[in-house]
Amino acid sequence: MRVIVVGSGVVGASCAYTASRLGAEVVLADAAMPGQATAAGAGIVCPWASDLAGDRAWYGLACASARHYPGLVAELAELGETEVGYRQVGALILAEPRPQQADMRQQLLARRAAAPEIGEVAGLTGAEARALFPPLRGDRAAVSVGGACRVDGRLLAGALARAAARQGAVIAAGRARLTCRAGRAVGVTLDGQLAEADAVVAATGAWTRAFLEPAGVAVAVTPQRGQIVHLSVEPADTSRWPVVLPRGSGHYLLAFDGSRVVAGATRETGAGFEYRVTAGGLAQVPGQALAVAPGLAEARHLETRVGFRPAGPGPPAAARPGPRRGRPGGRDRPRPHRADHGPLRGSRRRAGRAGRTARRRPRAVRPAARDALTFRRGASLSATAGRVPGVNARSTCAASWCPAGGSPGRHGTVR
Ligand SMILES: Cc1cc2nc3c(=O)[nH]c(=O)nc-3n(C[C@H](O)[C@H](O)[C@H](O)COP(=O)(O)OP(=O)(O)OC[C@H]3O[C@@H](n4cnc5c(N)ncnc54)[C@H](O)[C@@H]3O)c2cc1C
Repeated sequence: MRVIVVGSGVVGASCAYTASRLGAEVVLADAAMPGQATAAGAGIVCPWASDLAGDRAWYGLACASARHYPGLVAELAELGETEVGYRQVGALILAEPRPQQADMRQQLLARRAAAPEIGEVAGLTGAEARALFPPLRGDRAAVSVGGACRVDGRLLAGALARAAARQGAVIAAGRARLTCRAGRAVGVTLDGQLAEADAVVAATGAWTRAFLEPAGVAVAVTPQRGQIVHLSVEPADTSRWPVVLPRGSGHYLLAFDGSRVVAGATRETGAGFEYRVTAGGLAQVPGQALAVAPGLAEARHLETRVGFRPAGPGPPAAARPGPRRGRPGGRDRPRPHRADHGPLRGSRRRAGRAGRTARRRPRAVRPAARDALTFRRGASLSATAGRVPGVNARSTCAASWCPAGGSPGRHGTVR
């Protein structure tokens, strides 16, 4: 089975890794578009406190994704990929006043029955929270969630792609165009050459609508720009600082090794693919960060990253608390996809088409050095590109969103 995965963000890299592990012949192509979401993403893995937890499909996938990480990280470590920035650091949900804190705690404890990876849940005073994340103001009570993690998307996607290459995947640079013949996808055109395949995986994030156009497939994926600020608090040891989630603001703080604190992020729908740091972004993100963590005022600004979240329509109205369709913030609000789902989504895509076939007919993998474009031609394809199962079938897109429990093949594989 020959699979071309287009896009090497966390979803595509994971797909390439898993498919090649199962013996498929894989090409992983990426155009290095400015604004890759994975490279800008904060990397928070803490779905249990999300406002979207009422959406059962979303929540089920999100929990499964969080559960998937430790095994994946261990697997990568065995392959020599030890640097992915993944660590269980816990999270502090800043919740005021006290009744809100108690509600939050109860809700998390109730959810823990089905998701034990939530870990320890405890109410903390402001001083206790500040002891864990020193720049905090100290008068905000918090609920701590022991199981929350963070991961460095850049490192993770790089590790997955390298591991895929070691398993025989070919890494190709350049913009791929989906190529169709008589309404059927036959492969991609890369650097002017047609590369044929049994399956093409569109892991093209926010660019998926354009990628699928030649197949006559319209997906409701739009870019949602996010600006995210990186600070240095040298010489502090930030390696175990928890994720901080102030309730209600949509902003957050987290930390990585090397005294790095990350403050996120804007959510700019309608900004298109304008890849730039704006004055508004620079005002909003640090402003929100300093409101909860004034101790960051003297931190050194390292960089501001910009990424385009692949955003699709929101969940069904019934699943979503709050205003309904047509009202501000209601159902029509685009909902971005999340990196914490990425590896699982990627691996499930594999399970969809490439993986199932690869298991039935295991083949020797090709050496990584082989030219990406020397494909055997004439591979037959099993379905038309215009018939992508799952596209617009619910409130998700076929690109980088995998409905929890979705049937194999519903995840953007153009067949
Ligand atoms: C500021 C910010 C903060 C975030 N924080 C979090 C968070 O804390 N937790 C979380 O879970 N999620 C977070 N996200 C969301 C998360 O980053 C994304 O959902 C996830 O990274 C999407 O991965 P992806 O592989 O689908 O897309 P991307 O990472 O965008 O990758 C798509 C790739 O496709 C390539 N491509 C596109 N078209 C073509 C083509 N025609 N040919 C070849 N290559 C092509 C691009 O070059 C790109 O590399 C955040 C996002 C942003 C922007």
